[in-house]
Amino acid sequence: MDEPIDVAGNLASIRERIEAAADRAGRRPDEIRLVAVSKTHPLSLIEAALAAGQVDFGENRVEEAWAKYADPASQASLAGQAATGARTSAVRPQLHLIGPIQSRKAALAVACQPVLIHAVDRVKIARRLDRLAGEAGLVLDALLEVNVSGEASKFGFSPAGLLEAVDDLLALPHLRLQGLMTIPPYDSDPEMARPYFVRLRGLQERLMSGWPAADWRQLSMGMSHDFEVAIEEGATIVRVGTAIFGVRA
Ligand SMILES: *Cc1c(COP(=O)(O)O)cnc(C)c1O
Repeated sequence: MDEPIDVAGNLASIRERIEAAADRAGRRPDEIRLVAVSKTHPLSLIEAALAAGQVDFGENRVEEAWAKYADPASQASLAGQAATGARTSAVRPQLHLIGPIQSRKAALAVACQPVLIHAVDRVKIARRLDRLAGEAGLVLDALLEVNVSGEASKFGFSPAGLLEAVDDLLALPHLRLQGLMTIPPYDSDPEMARPYFVRLRGLQERLMSGWPAADWRQLSMGMSHDFEVAIEEGATIVRVGTAIFGVRA
């Protein structure tokens, strides 16, 4: 029998660690948004997180996101939990799509009405999401995924490719760009991720000076094992799964 997962306790400790990392970096903790990544985990754990006041949730597969957050049955279940669990205002889970979106999943992704798409990784999918959002009467908030390591296995724009694509991307009326996202190569030592976080921040600075009218404020970087380093280097959004919900099956 597995140990039960203490979602509320894990969330409290992650929030403390976010505050401590922000303090070290001379930043305000409320500049950093915690996305609880619930992929592979059941609604019962999501409900426990909602009851503990967690608002932002991430999924990397579109069908799973739909089934857990957008399907009317699960929405009703989660809404009930939010109403009874949270002492503050009525909380509805906010869905973040954090994984790459395949073309044939784009319509379902839009139908999920995510609060933020983290991983727009090519112009083609940006155009498709823009068109589908327009048809649905929506404007989608989105981040551009950047492959700052150059690893062949990683999704995302190369930094040079991104600079070339920016004008095209900014011209899409139903996609509201807000910044950048990256996943560094995995290393158990979080310090190994630091140079990649620094690189993403450097690219953000180039975009801010080259396209000052656009919005580049958000940096989605940092996961369970390296979110503190990411915060020290400027993350505004951290995506934490395992450290909240336990190891994935
Ligand atoms: C799964 C996933 C995470 C969370 O990873 P953990 O190591 O479990 O915290 C973050 N970002 C993306 C894009 C993911 O797919």
